[in-house]
Amino acid sequence: MNSPLNLYSRYIKNLHGQRVQKIPVDAGFTCPNRDGSKGFGGCTFCNNDSFSMGAKELSIKDQVQNGIALYRRKFPKLEKFIVYFQSYSNTYKSVHELERIYLEALSIEGVIGIAIGTRPDCIDIEKVALLQELAQSYDVTVEYGVESLSDETLKRVNRGHTVKDFEVALDMTYGRGIKLCTHLILGFPWETEVSLQRTCHKIQAYPLDFIKIHQLQVVKGTVMGTAYEKDPFHVINKEEYFKMLMEVITHLDPKIVIQRLFSDYRPEYLISKAWSESMSLLTSEFMHYLEFHQACQGSKRSNFKIVLPK
Ligand code: SF4
Repeated sequence: MNSPLNLYSRYIKNLHGQRVQKIPVDAGFTCPNRDGSKGFGGCTFCNNDSFSMGAKELSIKDQVQNGIALYRRKFPKLEKFIVYFQSYSNTYKSVHELERIYLEALSIEGVIGIAIGTRPDCIDIEKVALLQELAQSYDVTVEYGVESLSDETLKRVNRGHTVKDFEVALDMTYGRGIKLCTHLILGFPWETEVSLQRTCHKIQAYPLDFIKIHQLQVVKGTVMGTAYEKDPFHVINKEEYFKMLMEVITHLDPKIVIQRLFSDYRPEYLISKAWSESMSLLTSEFMHYLEFHQACQGSKRSNFKIVLPK
């Protein structure tokens, strides 16, 4: 049976002929909306401690080697790894420092690539040139978090950049052998059906290799969390999220590989009434939901004809 989704786990196994494990690290970065260059406090929904698995007090090499040892306990035959620079904005240093940091990760036995989570306003042509050079020998992905394709929402959550910044970053990076990923959050309480349709429309136009989407959840240690505790507001529930997600997914090019569809916060950080079953359970439930609605990735695109992988 064809899968209704083009999922990363299958993509990466087909590409490398075996399971490839991502190893998250914290390389001690910050963000321009935290350190004062664009603002303070960070994005109103963000607390890196609620999802980050890195340990910035350790060197990158130690973090990676610890991560490899940990995953090999569960999957002893693991041979290939991608180091995931996950916490904060991982291109927000000078190009010389970035080169040292990325090369430290790539020098470790078994590491075949890096995935770099960052913001679209923390990149320039010199940094892109560095990534392009590395991409000639390694699997290199840059993940530009945009979170919303509405400038109004970006302003309300204190992002400190615009949708245009995201488009400029994509344009600067595309066509250089660097894989492109983005990250979207659905369910901001003030967003409407019109904003959802705008997201569905816009997402079709971007030259992405990968996408990550997740539902808004309210977590401790955030501006949004404090506001919620003072005056609780409606947080998207599973039924509402599945409906929204189906709308976005059915407009998404089937060639774009989906890296995630649900958030994975540590439960002790969740404030809002959480629905936080495991990501694999939720993904499987969502796939059944799509099948029930006779929908699949890209099925609402006007030129839909691509058959999804088996
Ligand atoms: S969401 Fe990203 S850019 Fe925003 S504060 Fe958190 S790490 Fe920084």
